Amino acid sequence: MAKMNWAAGTQCVAKGDHRKPKPGELAYHKGDILTIVDTSTRKGFYQARHNTTGEEGLISSTNVREREALRVDPSLSLMPWFHGKISGPEAVGKLQPAEDGLFLVRESIRHPGDYVLCVSVSGEVIHYRVIYQDNKLTIDNTQYFYNLIDMIEFYSNNKGSIATTLLKPKQKQGAKSAELELSKTGWLLDITKLTLGENIGEGEFGAVYEGEYMGQKVAVKTIKCDVTAQAFLQETAVMTKLQHKNLVRLLGVILHKGLHIVTELMSKGNLVNFLRTRGRSVINSVQLLRFALDVCEGMEYLESKKLVHRDLAARNVLVSDDSVAKVSDFGLTKVDSKVSDNIKLPVKWTAPEALKKEKFSTKSDVWSYGVLLWEIFSYGRLPYPKMSLKEVKEKVEEGYRMEAPDDCPPGIYSLMKICWEQEPRRRPAFHKLREKLEREMGKHSPDPGSGRRDGIRSGSGC
Ligand code: ADP
Repeated sequence: MAKMNWAAGTQCVAKGDHRKPKPGELAYHKGDILTIVDTSTRKGFYQARHNTTGEEGLISSTNVREREALRVDPSLSLMPWFHGKISGPEAVGKLQPAEDGLFLVRESIRHPGDYVLCVSVSGEVIHYRVIYQDNKLTIDNTQYFYNLIDMIEFYSNNKGSIATTLLKPKQKQGAKSAELELSKTGWLLDITKLTLGENIGEGEFGAVYEGEYMGQKVAVKTIKCDVTAQAFLQETAVMTKLQHKNLVRLLGVILHKGLHIVTELMSKGNLVNFLRTRGRSVINSVQLLRFALDVCEGMEYLESKKLVHRDLAARNVLVSDDSVAKVSDFGLTKVDSKVSDNIKLPVKWTAPEALKKEKFSTKSDVWSYGVLLWEIFSYGRLPYPKMSLKEVKEKVEEGYRMEAPDDCPPGIYSLMKICWEQEPRRRPAFHKLREKLEREMGKHSPDPGSGRRDGIRSGSGC
């Protein structure tokens, strides 16, 4: 198979071990992720960097395969064995020909909301009613589970009080196993290589922990509820397509008692808290500009991929150890502008046409970016201080706009104002904004190319 056209930046998965490298070659194990850094080397070889050890060396192109993006596919399921509302006899029909350990889960028709685990054993199908009690699921009042995924995982490894361990899922027609797809594309990580550390944040749907995966510091978002986990699969699928220095990088996912999303660790937390806790005395305007430019570059990349973020705000920007700002939270990111669900919109960040007519576009992201600029230059204040959401909606529609934050450079305030043009067409694209910000940067620092991260004074406890 000839596939010699990989560009620098391409991520590959090792097909086998390479434990005894010759001089100049890279050592790796099967399943390791390697990033191509130079393609102009010996024929059939690439210069690559090991994603976890950071080492660089030559790799043979026949020994690796490209790490593909996961397709955003609605039939991709974390619960391919879940058949929805079907009757008992229908379930029996689906579990033919009989095979010990073949199973499915259905929703009871007679008791809506209740689940039934159906298992084939010795030529018969046994139906186990799953009882929902105190926010947990149980079959025998002995073993309790957070969700169906958790339950199936348990009975796949233990017989417990049922007739047989679950051996083979009967997949719903059309459903694709997320686990299989994730594993095929190289995004499924190995839980035994993960060490979980402290809790570092609370998301709306689950906690975020610090951790270590094969020597690399990571953040792990755990999502326990199976329905939410399924929704988050979408975010994950979007993230597998994206690689940019100003977007929080997905390392992979772990499926165990739900979904764990593993990303690079952004040790300085979210941008709002970062700005609030340090303030003016610690962070100078060059660093603020740097953050603004970082986010703008990340958004320019999304713009180039025709992706709309929809929830751009300083709370969704994270700061790395070396103070680089990166956009995160792609939960609402969509390719097109149709809203299919009733998501609660972040009113103070959302463009008027998106609020009123659900018209989301890169230009509505530009509006949010203007609000984010305001947050940056006010050191993390809540936008439209003292105004209620209703007031904001009404006043903004009438043409009201926020005033410049204290000491905000006039050039930056003009940028905010053009981001807040009522007419989306009149707002600049992110690549234009980036050019303008770079010019602004030139005014503020005599040599913008050097000392990129000098804006934070040392000894300040950042
Ligand atoms: P949600 O979108 O549900 O609110 P987030 O993904 O924003 O959840 O995570 C909540 C908080 O956890 C963030 O505000 C941040 O402080 C922390 N956090 C999330 N991801 C990371 C990460 N990769 N590195 C460090 N901290 C993180």
